[in-house]
Amino acid sequence: PFNTDKGQHILKNPGVVNAIVEKSALKSTDTVLEVGPGTGNLTVKMLEVAKTVIACEIDPRMIAEVKKRVMGTPLQTKLQVNGGDVMKQEWPFFDVCVANLPYQISSPFVQKLLLHRPLPRYAVLMFQKEFADRLVARPGDKDYSRLSVNVQLLAKVEMLMKVKRTEFRPPPKVDSAVVRIAPKNPPPPVNFVEWEGLLRLCFMRKNKTLLAIFRLSNVIEVIEDNYRKVCSMKNKPLPKDFNMKKLIEETLTASGYAENRARKMRVEDFLALLLAFNKADIHFL
Ligand code: SAM
Repeated sequence: PFNTDKGQHILKNPGVVNAIVEKSALKSTDTVLEVGPGTGNLTVKMLEVAKTVIACEIDPRMIAEVKKRVMGTPLQTKLQVNGGDVMKQEWPFFDVCVANLPYQISSPFVQKLLLHRPLPRYAVLMFQKEFADRLVARPGDKDYSRLSVNVQLLAKVEMLMKVKRTEFRPPPKVDSAVVRIAPKNPPPPVNFVEWEGLLRLCFMRKNKTLLAIFRLSNVIEVIEDNYRKVCSMKNKPLPKDFNMKKLIEETLTASGYAENRARKMRVEDFLALLLAFNKADIHFL
């Protein structure tokens, strides 16, 4: 009856369902966005504590199931069900998001969540264990990656609990984990295009020093392209013997990060590095 292509793995252990709802610390005034209610195990528990649950479900059979479950009960009026693909919709206002997500949409879902306005208080989300490990990884951890830095730029991320595959029906091929993502409000004032551009370079070889990366000729080429554009826009003349490689090296060395490696750098370090480059008119567009 379950469609695993749609990530339909139903939580069968009520203890895990209750733990997720408890850790979500919902208030009686909260509007909750739930993605993929399935048969409604989490939904019903949340309806008991929250003001409203807006449940987005792609599968009409599941929509019928969750509606049937609250029909004729006092919870019925608190539930709103939105059909269709949650990634293709404009989201409603919500205070908190709680979801046992289909794992295929993990990465774009987190991105959409962090861009949503107004920012929610937090989201409590079930992911594949490996994805959750990357989200919460700290500098120096083996799973520390571009994803960790990008998400931790915009949110405080915390591992709440691990959930074994055997807690689901049918069991998926991987273990899971529940993570809380609390957006920083207001978000840090960063140009995200540049941020992303810088991180792509730094994590190109996450075990190499930044100096080694920024000495690569294809890297220098891209940076020089941007640099010349910025200078011409600012009417800043370039000397005849202008040397991009030298300027990058000098800026990097002065920043203090030349010998650092991305895998050990904190969000604050990347922010400081971007600022140092930008001050020298070096951009990552
Ligand atoms: N919440 C239930 C539970 O914990 O037992 C079921 C969670 S199940 C892992 C994921 C649910 O998301 C399924 O009911 C599936 O139909 C639904 N789903 C899959 N892709 C979706 C999408 N793009 N938009 C909305 N719902 C989706």
